Amino acid sequence: MGFNINLNNEFNYREKIKLPELSGGGIVLSYKCTNRCRHCLVAGSPERENKWLGRGEAEEIFKYIKRTGPGAEIHIGGGEPFLNTQCLIDAVELAVAEGIKLSYVETNGFWGNNFNKYEPVLKELYKIGLRSVLISVSPFHAEFIKPQITINAIKSVRNVFGFHGAFVWIPEFLNMLNKNDITKTIDWNTINPDIIKRAGDMYYLIPGGRCGYSKTPVADKKPAADFFITSCERELLSTSHFHIDAYGNYMPGGLCGGIKMCSYKEAGTEINLNDKPLIKLLFNEGIRGLFDYAQKMGYIEKSDGYCGKCHLCVDIRTFLFNKFGAEKYLELAPAEFYETLIKESSL
Ligand code: SF4
Repeated sequence: MGFNINLNNEFNYREKIKLPELSGGGIVLSYKCTNRCRHCLVAGSPERENKWLGRGEAEEIFKYIKRTGPGAEIHIGGGEPFLNTQCLIDAVELAVAEGIKLSYVETNGFWGNNFNKYEPVLKELYKIGLRSVLISVSPFHAEFIKPQITINAIKSVRNVFGFHGAFVWIPEFLNMLNKNDITKTIDWNTINPDIIKRAGDMYYLIPGGRCGYSKTPVADKKPAADFFITSCERELLSTSHFHIDAYGNYMPGGLCGGIKMCSYKEAGTEINLNDKPLIKLLFNEGIRGLFDYAQKMGYIEKSDGYCGKCHLCVDIRTFLFNKFGAEKYLELAPAEFYETLIKESSL
């Protein structure tokens, strides 16, 4: 006998949810970045607002995490955190002071050729208590940062933090990039499309944020209906990779960029879904529920398909944001995420 989704909805339809204890996540110091990487889940870019997490807000957030998930492992990222070294130092200092388990700070290593300016910053971070720096290495990053600069950033981190203090994510790409001239950024249009798809797999890419819109797709595109079988309950309830941004938004642990589940202050409380109709649909009916709703609102399925359910989800959410503005769906936040995608799609 087949699974009856209507029967399941009748018994399980939820109007309120409570997140489990926070188990791991990231603090987005800012969405501002040196890059406009094609795979970015939060659509970071140089054009994003120059808004950074303030010291007082950071302190409150770390206190809150300590109360609601005392064992949670936290990383600090962005955007690009080394664009505001004082904010970064403050965040690490406050996390350590609150007794947070700090796993790493994440960077694209744009500063790798500026040893004089950034070595003291690395030393300060180490002195405060940071023990690992994640340096991103991928074709997506190499479109904006010369691989030689990334390599120099890795060397700088190793000089200060020791060999294992540089968490290279992911090292296999160093070999791939080494086949080109590492003193130049890569030309995306010259990369074999199969390599982009393999890179997506190697990087465990989720086609949310800007990722699904990559001109060379990161995955084979399929019609919307191919994704209807999956629900989003697991991703929305997950607290294993949540993000809290500089506006205080809590984003689900399934890496759903552009979805504000709640304010971080509500993360340990019961969350009412009735004022978050899109999350309510995604939670109870999955991407199919969101798609059916969007079609009634005028959404037209893309004829060339989608790289995954999260690409479909972002496309629908961007359509709804564009049509109804920021006020109708409070869960579509930060607004600048959607404004960025809309602006970029018209370029
Ligand atoms: S489809 Fe949407 S809600 Fe579901 S996991 Fe992807 S981004 Fe999150």
